[in-house]
Parts: sequence; structure tokens; C-alpha cells
Amino acid sequence: MRGLYIGRFQPFHLGHKAVLKKILEEVNEVVVVMGSAQDSHTPQNPFTAGERLDMIYGALRDLRPRSYVIPLQDVDRNAIWVSHVVSMAPRFDLVYSNNPLTEDLFIEAGIQVRKPPMYRRDLYSGTIIRNLMLQGGDWRSLVPEEVAAVIDSIGGVKRLIHIARDDLK
Ligand code: ATP
Ligand code: MG
Repeated sequence: MRGLYIGRFQPFHLGHKAVLKKILEEVNEVVVVMGSAQDSHTPQNPFTAGERLDMIYGALRDLRPRSYVIPLQDVDRNAIWVSHVVSMAPRFDLVYSNNPLTEDLFIEAGIQVRKPPMYRRDLYSGTIIRNLMLQGGDWRSLVPEEVAAVIDSIGGVKRLIHIARDDLK
């Protein structure tokens, strides 16, 4: 059995990793679909697809023989989104998601959806982590160390601060 797990991973954090470990208790393999692959250099989506692949590849080192990561561009038409995913992902049996729209679209297409548990959503959230980066807070403790290393190597915090500031000068 192979499961699919979809997100933007801006950035990949310890909540995502905990979910993937849980999913791998239920299925043999998981396909991590990195969505909005075309987006980068915005306050909501600061990192490129390639940077996010580096982060996730490092963070999943211990899970790697059983995990795939693929980038996926958006198609801004919900009615064809599931076929887009199916056309770009390796074969999968079921989807893990808590997003109501994702859930509806896959169920309508006859694909099983399971809801993974949330881990400390008050802490482990991309939005919270990006805000901590902007405010000089402790974001490092919320991401795998491999993710922090990639963010440091690309000057990610400086980039985020700069792009978030543009209209406030
Ligand atoms: P953002 O705030 O930027 O949307 P996010 O933390 O929601 O970031 P996404 O890339 O949007 O991250 O999430 C991918 C998937 O991971 C979504 O299905 C989301 O519900 C789930 N997820 C996010 N945080 C957690 C968490 N703490 N525990 C479990 N699942 C999570
Ligand atoms: Mg989200």
C-alpha cells in the first residue's frame, strides 16, 4: 500500500515529520507531494521547489527507502486537480489530508482519504514558523535540523525579512 501526503512545506516542519512517521505505520510507502511548486520569494511561499526538495530530502533521511518526494505545480481548476495529481505522482492507493477541499475532490474521484492526527498545531505550523523568522524568534526548534541547515545555507531568513518588508519602507 502506498499513501499520498500533500502540502506546500514552506518550510517542512516537525509536525509534517510526525505525520509521515504515523502514516508509515499504516502503509508501506508514502509519496510526499510538494504543491505550489512554481511559487517562491513571497511571504507565504518564500522557498523554491528545489530548496524545499533539499530540505525534505535531508529531513527524511531515516524514512527515505519508504518515501518519495515530488514537486507539483498548481492548476487553478479544482475540477481537474485530482487528475493532475494522478498524472504526476507515482501510483498510490489512498490520500492523507485534513484539508476539506482536498478531501472532497479525492472522494469524488473515488479515492480513499484518511485524516492524519495533528501534532501540536499551536507550535508546528508553517505560518507560525515564518512569523518567528520575521520576528527573530526560535523557529529552529520547530523544524528538523536538516531543514534549518538548508535555510541557513540559502540565507532564507534574510530573504523572508526582505520580501515581507517591501511595501513598508
Ligand atoms: P502553512 O501555515 O504555510 O499553511 P502548514 O503547517 O499548514 O503551513 P502545509 O504545507 O500547508 O503546512 O501542510 C501540509 C499538510 O500538513 C496539511 O495537510 C496540513 O494540515 C498538515 N499539517 C500541518 N501542520 C501539521 C501538524 N502540526 N500536525 C499534523 N499535520 C500538520
Ligand atoms: Mg497549511
